[in-house]
Amino acid sequence: MIHQEPDCLFCRIVRGEIPASIVYRNDHVVAFRDITPITPQHVLIIPVRHIASLSDLTPEDEAAAGQILLAAGIVAEIIGIRESGYRLVFNTGKDALQSVFHIHGHLIGGNQMGWPPF
Ligand code: C5P
Repeated sequence: MIHQEPDCLFCRIVRGEIPASIVYRNDHVVAFRDITPITPQHVLIIPVRHIASLSDLTPEDEAAAGQILLAAGIVAEIIGIRESGYRLVFNTGKDALQSVFHIHGHLIGGNQMGWPPF
């Protein structure tokens, strides 16, 4: 049984209890459009399994973590930015302004970005 939290916002999206514009899903991950996009294309990729942040990953989560990275290229292809390029950003903890404590990779793209990102 995959671990889920009853009151976690993103677990609720996984379970279909809160509507989301889902772009892709498989047994391990769900990808949906961010409700407040910061770039022309902005999709969140989350594990089905509840894991609070990158800092909470354990060896048990190896498959879930790998599936997020594998999904990035698939999602980029689906939304049409695989060739033009994109970033996958994991805000982790206070200084990075993580606000939802269920791992999510922000897949952003669709325009020319700059560097550094802050
Ligand atoms: O990295 P951080 O935790 O700050 O990002 C959370 C993201 O979740 C935000 O970009 C916010 O717009 C998004 N969000 C969403 N759907 C919700 C609640 C939050 O896409 N129902």
